[in-house]
Amino acid sequence: MGSVGRNTDRSWLGRIGRNRLVQTLVRWVDDEAVDESYTARTTDRPDWFRVLPFLVLHLACLGVIWVGWSWTAVAVAAALYVVRMFAITAFYHRYFSHRTFRTSRFWQFLFALLGTSAVQRGPLWWAAHHRHHHKCADKEDDVHSPLEKGFLWSHVTWLTTPAAFRTRHALVKDLAAYPELRFLNRFSVLAPVLLAAALFGAGELLRGFVPAAGTSGPQLLIWGFFISTVVLFHATSTINSLDHLVGRRRYATADNSRNNLLLALLTFGEGWHNNHHHYAASARQGFFWWEVDLTYYGLWLMARLGIVRDLRRVPARVLTSNLVSDGASRRPGA
Ligand SMILES: [Zn+2]
Ligand SMILES: [Zn+2]
Repeated sequence: MGSVGRNTDRSWLGRIGRNRLVQTLVRWVDDEAVDESYTARTTDRPDWFRVLPFLVLHLACLGVIWVGWSWTAVAVAAALYVVRMFAITAFYHRYFSHRTFRTSRFWQFLFALLGTSAVQRGPLWWAAHHRHHHKCADKEDDVHSPLEKGFLWSHVTWLTTPAAFRTRHALVKDLAAYPELRFLNRFSVLAPVLLAAALFGAGELLRGFVPAAGTSGPQLLIWGFFISTVVLFHATSTINSLDHLVGRRRYATADNSRNNLLLALLTFGEGWHNNHHHYAASARQGFFWWEVDLTYYGLWLMARLGIVRDLRRVPARVLTSNLVSDGASRRPGA
């Protein structure tokens, strides 16, 4: 606040010179290489050069034209969608952003690593932006409100702009206490690159030793990494975009959040977003038995196995407070 335009430039990035190309290349691998002179670029326009890898991620899906498909490749893509969606919803969201349960440092790291492989930047970056979203959802300061700046902005454009690249460290001091999480957050490109390389290697091994699997390195790379990751990204993004637009409102929250069964199925329970904005401290987002919440079922199982503990519940009084009695769908004051 109040520092827009001020270029302190004390970072090492500032010292290596002002060459835009060099700085962008550094930012492709080091998420913390964003000084104020960069983030204060005021426009709402994407930094196309910075987001080139993100564009390539999408374009690479077209590689399917050349590599074709196999049941093996589709199964690997689906499995990686499931595992990484769970890492995002259970850990990036319900654990790192909202602290709705507890776990050990080992599992915290493992799921942070899995979450990072989903190409949604690091756990501190994700949690900080999300905590900020809850502070001012659908208000002027919300970084991804479809009501303020439209569907496309809330879905994807916001995170391609310079201002969105910095981690809001002031909002995640609790997470920054762990050096291993800071490392993953700073070099969030590492896990995706390793995953892509592992998929290529596994595909080549299958091609050589298990020809009946009918796959290859390039095919597993396209399906397991590019297609799975792009679908996962857009599924996750629907919660920021569609789930603030389409669905029913049970609770009269100060934002425009909705409960939406289709989105809940797609995102393993995150579609009960109006419930979540009403009471974000619960590990469970489907408040009633008929509100399918796959992430919560997974967490429940992990609690039985001793991997997580202290899953926070919804107090009974919260279930029936601040109801939208007439079923009205507009947010108060809108
Ligand atoms: Zn929201
Ligand atoms: Zn949340």
